[in-house]
Amino acid sequence: MIAFASETCGAGCPGEPPIEETKAMEHDGGCHCGNLQVHVRLTRPPADNPIRSCTCSFCRSHATRTVSDPAGQADIRAADWSLVEKYRFGSRTADHLLCRRCGVYIGAVCETSAGPRAVINTLCLRDRAAFTQDAIRPDYDAETTDERLSRRAANWMPARLHPAA
Ligand SMILES: [Zn+2]
Repeated sequence: MIAFASETCGAGCPGEPPIEETKAMEHDGGCHCGNLQVHVRLTRPPADNPIRSCTCSFCRSHATRTVSDPAGQADIRAADWSLVEKYRFGSRTADHLLCRRCGVYIGAVCETSAGPRAVINTLCLRDRAAFTQDAIRPDYDAETTDERLSRRAANWMPARLHPAA
């Protein structure tokens, strides 16, 4: 649990005590209205994480910048899951989580052979600006569904939904 000095001021602002290294790899965020809350634990500092802007039409229209760390953990909590759209398209194998009240896209969750796995849209995190890498722009159009699920099992991060949806 990270306490920020204020809504508008994240880690590293002048005058704030430095955040410990371990805590700098934990990130909080969520949708705009607060219904969806995201807590992400990464194993590297934010600037060391590759960022992906997938080239599918959904991600391009949302200008997503996603992160995943297979050794990390994503916890996604909704005050009211009935206000969460689990949008599926294409291979229909991942739930793209959008808040129905405020419209924010927080990331995608997929059931894989390794268990539930997620990618998180760094733009929904309070310290989004700490994720400074230029985005990789992968094109997954040619993948089969099996290849897609295997890639997500290996590369996406373990995810938990609270309360279990
Ligand atoms: Zn919302």
